[in-house]
Amino acid sequence: MSAFLRFITTDTAVHFHRAHLVDAVAEHHLPKDIAHFGKRLTSYSQSGQSGPITLQFADGSSANCDLLVGCDGIKSFVRHAMMEKKVAEGLPDFSKYMEPVWTGSIAYRALVPVDRLPKFIREDPQLTKPLTYCGKDKVYFILIIHLGNTIMIGNMQHIMRYCISQSTTLNVVAFVSQPELSDTVYDGPWATECDSTELDAYSNWEPRVSEFLKVSFNVQTCFVYRLTIPRKLAEKPMKWAIHDLRPLPIYVSENVALVGDADAYILANLLGHPSTALDTLSHALKAYEHVRLPLANNVRTISRNTGPMFEFKSSSGDDYKAIKSTMEHQWDWMSADGVEEQLQKALSKMMEALN
Ligand SMILES: Cc1cc2nc3c(=O)[nH]c(=O)nc-3n(C[C@H](O)[C@H](O)[C@H](O)COP(=O)(O)OP(=O)(O)OC[C@H]3O[C@@H](n4cnc5c(N)ncnc54)[C@H](O)[C@@H]3O)c2cc1C
Repeated sequence: MSAFLRFITTDTAVHFHRAHLVDAVAEHHLPKDIAHFGKRLTSYSQSGQSGPITLQFADGSSANCDLLVGCDGIKSFVRHAMMEKKVAEGLPDFSKYMEPVWTGSIAYRALVPVDRLPKFIREDPQLTKPLTYCGKDKVYFILIIHLGNTIMIGNMQHIMRYCISQSTTLNVVAFVSQPELSDTVYDGPWATECDSTELDAYSNWEPRVSEFLKVSFNVQTCFVYRLTIPRKLAEKPMKWAIHDLRPLPIYVSENVALVGDADAYILANLLGHPSTALDTLSHALKAYEHVRLPLANNVRTISRNTGPMFEFKSSSGDDYKAIKSTMEHQWDWMSADGVEEQLQKALSKMMEALN
């Protein structure tokens, strides 16, 4: 194993546990009674083109709003309903954006408290630095005997690790990919607890790496006084089928908008602008879509190429020079157009439409 690229980003990335951020916002930054948790949207309908939208929830309650912003993730109900409406309006192509597609990759993920890691990992000077182990020659074959035919499926692999929560927790994500299955439907639950034997796929890695994975995902034996007790390093290691969406053609339809986890700042600023009122709402939404949709689709496309690249299966193959140069430009989109620049672009677009 050797390092072929040390990549130093010029941007400052902050590593935190997403759940901690959500809890902090919910506890300290939301005005009282503004948020209602535990609600599941089951349908919405709008009276006329710009009338109020009625929301129906699984618990039987309902609510009215002028604008519906769906930030409901990859399985978004709002996106599904928006695309369904387009199909009903005579645009059958929109059906392919209703459901997510499987990328062909499975991620095994463990969050390991750093102070429980064995000494050899804890004292690794690289521990607090993000690290990716690329899967050169790490092809793990499964043989399936099917009606007399032997099907060989090659699983490609790569592993990422980085510290979060002020370096108190190590996030370990080990990927197993079957590129030939990308864009197919994943047969099974998307997220399950994982059994450490599933990590056997990594047994052909260098001992340092496979040992690192074993201790991250396995129950570790430790000594307390004279007792030997098994204790878990990671709470509930998970196995996730990694899905994404085909690049979306729209983010907005009438008074309904879709929002990904990084889009809110732009939309909130446009909606809070003094020129935005109910009769000018469509301009704010269109300006938001104009700036964020191409960016989101571009990041999705870059991400699609990144996994295979770490497994030497991208268009760069195992050409280290080409991979190195692609990796060095992976995050260019962040500095090319910072969030404040994007906001200015969106505001100009909105003001253009208003004048
Ligand atoms: C293995 C893995 C590793 C990742 N690692 C990173 C990483 O290191 N860094 C990073 O930035 N991103 C990472 N991501 C991606 C990140 O998790 C997503 O980009 C992010 O969570 C998307 O945020 P979101 O708000 O769009 O959706 P989500 O976080 O999925 O939130 C959607 C919310 O909507 C709710 N919801 C869904 N349907 C309804 C409904 N009908 N009614 C009401 N509520 C509903 C859900 O319960 C959920 O709370 C990772 C993803 C995976 C799978």
